[in-house]
Amino acid sequence: MKANVGQEHTSSYYAATVNRVTNFDKLKGQKSADVCVIGAGFTGISTALHLAERGYSVHVLEANKVGWGASGRNGGQIIGGISGETRLSKGLSKDDEKRVFEMGWQGHKIIRDRVSKYNIKCDLKQGYVDVAIKPKHVRDLENYAKVLDEYNFDFGQELLNQDEVRQTLGTEKYIGGLKINYNGHLHPLNLCVGEADAARALGAVISEKSPVIKITHGVKPVVETQHGSVEADFVVLAGNAYHFIEPKLRGAVLPVKSFIIGSEPLSSELVNKINPQDLAVCDPNYILEYFRLSADKRLLFGRRFPYFGDNPEIIKNALIPKMLKVYPELKNTNFEFGWGGTIGVTVNRVPQLGRISDNIFYSQGYSGHGVNVTHLAGQIMADIVGGTAERFDVFSKIKPIIFPGQHLFRNQLVSLGMLYYRLIDAL
Ligand SMILES: Cc1cc2nc3c(=O)[nH]c(=O)nc-3n(C[C@H](O)[C@H](O)[C@H](O)COP(=O)(O)OP(=O)(O)OC[C@H]3O[C@@H](n4cnc5c(N)ncnc54)[C@H](O)[C@@H]3O)c2cc1C
Repeated sequence: MKANVGQEHTSSYYAATVNRVTNFDKLKGQKSADVCVIGAGFTGISTALHLAERGYSVHVLEANKVGWGASGRNGGQIIGGISGETRLSKGLSKDDEKRVFEMGWQGHKIIRDRVSKYNIKCDLKQGYVDVAIKPKHVRDLENYAKVLDEYNFDFGQELLNQDEVRQTLGTEKYIGGLKINYNGHLHPLNLCVGEADAARALGAVISEKSPVIKITHGVKPVVETQHGSVEADFVVLAGNAYHFIEPKLRGAVLPVKSFIIGSEPLSSELVNKINPQDLAVCDPNYILEYFRLSADKRLLFGRRFPYFGDNPEIIKNALIPKMLKVYPELKNTNFEFGWGGTIGVTVNRVPQLGRISDNIFYSQGYSGHGVNVTHLAGQIMADIVGGTAERFDVFSKIKPIIFPGQHLFRNQLVSLGMLYYRLIDAL
């Protein structure tokens, strides 16, 4: 597999508006730390910050830049729940089922606490709506609202009928919705960089442009880059869909591309028409569409399509017609940004948290649902390093299913998968 190493940020809206471009030194020479984390996306940085807060010495090695991967490119939507939650809860008692359900919302609190504690400027907003396209989706949302009620969760949830969703989002496309105020949205790259700065202030070391090329297992694993090494008591693998080092994880996640376009700032008239409450929006299709406004009132609209490159013009040309089906009034709006990123998707959709050995752990495969869950995962990784396995074991008991030949046929597999899911969405 071709490795993405030593790269600058992609041409995203987020990179263009990041508070600060990080430029941390490459790893040079022999170092040691309690924990070496590989990958500086949300999983790696969240883990590092949890560990640093608990007094561990941490060294993060990143092949490119902090937030270079999916974490600095995503829709920025903080959505409750864990992908594959039903599978995760299978066979559990009612109480444990509720515990898993609660875990699916714990990342929200971690994010909010950090934004407030470390004063991270990342345009954090409350408010989100799941929209329905077919009657089945309306029933699903009604059932989900019932579950929230049953568990006594008060997240400001409110079912919307067709008229209400039309008023809320200024579009005819949806026939219902479930608004959840506890969900929300933010500038993901600014969150990631802010958390990285917080971890560094607590003593963590982050080396950028330092792709890991070898891990020597043992009582004290040694993690090597071209110009240096880190000897540690524990290693946490957080490379997710961009991971290219540990053979045992090869084929465990399918790298699926998703793309986003970003408009010029919209007039207040348009904003009042299409999203006056400033909500993040997500549809329920497998090939789903998601959108929201940025802090400077650009429409950020995302979707998958079968393309594996990064050309902004190709991305805009593919996504603008889809966006116009939601908001035809934006036909004369200029779209200034188009970018893509890679999502780690697992066969059963359940995130993979597990161990390669007694002192090497991994967390990956949030299947498109990672802003919230990576923050939970970082806390669980810090727990397992400290010897507490309670929440870790909920995930680690489900062994990763490997996509055979994924590294050889990844694009063909993704295209086939998209065709299959497009058929399901059409039914
Ligand atoms: C376009 C898009 C939209 C999305 N929208 C949403 C959304 O709205 N809401 C949501 O919840 N989720 C969303 N997601 C998913 C979410 O972004 C991911 O689940 C999450 O960011 C994963 O974080 P991560 O840290 O595990 O991986 P990444 O952020 O991908 O980070 C992995 C890092 O590891 C590094 N790395 C890999 N191998 C090595 C190595 N050998 N040595 C050193 N470094 C290495 C990479 O360079 C990379 O920086 C979206 C994803 C994409 C791509």
